[in-house]
Amino acid sequence: MTSVRTLLNEYDVRPRKSLGQSFLNDGQMIRRIAVAADPQQGETIVEIGAGLGLLTEELARKAGRVIALEIDPRLVRALKDRFANCPTVEIVPGDVLDYDFSKTNPGGRIKVVGNIPYHISTPILFRLLEYRRSIASMLLMFQKELAERIMAPPGKKDYGIPSVIVACYASVSRALTVPAGCFYPEPDVVSTVLQFVMYEDLASSGDHVHLFATVRAAFAQRRKTLRNNLRAAGVAEEALEWIFRESRIDGARRAETLSVGEFKILSETINRSDRIEKFLDKGQGI
Ligand code: SAH
Repeated sequence: MTSVRTLLNEYDVRPRKSLGQSFLNDGQMIRRIAVAADPQQGETIVEIGAGLGLLTEELARKAGRVIALEIDPRLVRALKDRFANCPTVEIVPGDVLDYDFSKTNPGGRIKVVGNIPYHISTPILFRLLEYRRSIASMLLMFQKELAERIMAPPGKKDYGIPSVIVACYASVSRALTVPAGCFYPEPDVVSTVLQFVMYEDLASSGDHVHLFATVRAAFAQRRKTLRNNLRAAGVAEEALEWIFRESRIDGARRAETLSVGEFKILSETINRSDRIEKFLDKGQGI
């Protein structure tokens, strides 16, 4: 494997912290991530933040098609040069937060892989969940603490917005733990690669905008009850009464005690209530 330093020198690139640039620099780890991604001939893989393309290269050995997204023009240039003779790899310059994942493989579902920039991991994850119907599975690297929050079950301190939203749409498991020494430059944190497999039947997953607004409002202040948080989000007193009676969820509970199923019920009930437009206007759904 060509080393990251050699490539950085060759293309005259200094890593930018502001873009979360921390490149995988350990051949064995890169291969393990590629094995976990399990690329197949008939598959389209979208890699987020391809960087210098070392992981891209491994994925392209087996995948039918790899779309490599990269925002940094210097790295786009390096990628275009490195994959000039590789027709199955397509380099797409631009911001992943603007990318339309539903257009990549119309009629089929894609696989998403990425050692994604840490400063925008949560927005990237939420954007991907927005495109859940176009995605079969995702293998993504996170800072260990965020990975734990994503996987936390109800009742635990770490259980919060990402845990609930992810669990509504996908099963999630830890694929690999990646020590800081596997990267150049070395980050200050340990990383965890998570594997997400989207549920086949997302038709019954309800309305995403309502779900997101509900979960966000419920967790706005963790120590407060559901009733107080929903009230603070603008739900009128009579609507609150109706929602808790109808959903059979006790308004005196805190968000962290609700199961994912209960969040779905709560959000559907709020959705059915016609007296809460104010709340929905405030909800910044995705
Ligand atoms: N996958 C490579 C690089 C990981 S570093 C490797 O594992 O070595 C994260 C990469 O994401 C960098 O190349 C960075 O330039 C890119 N990146 C940062 N913000 C981005 C964004 N908004 N959209 C697309 N790529 C981005």
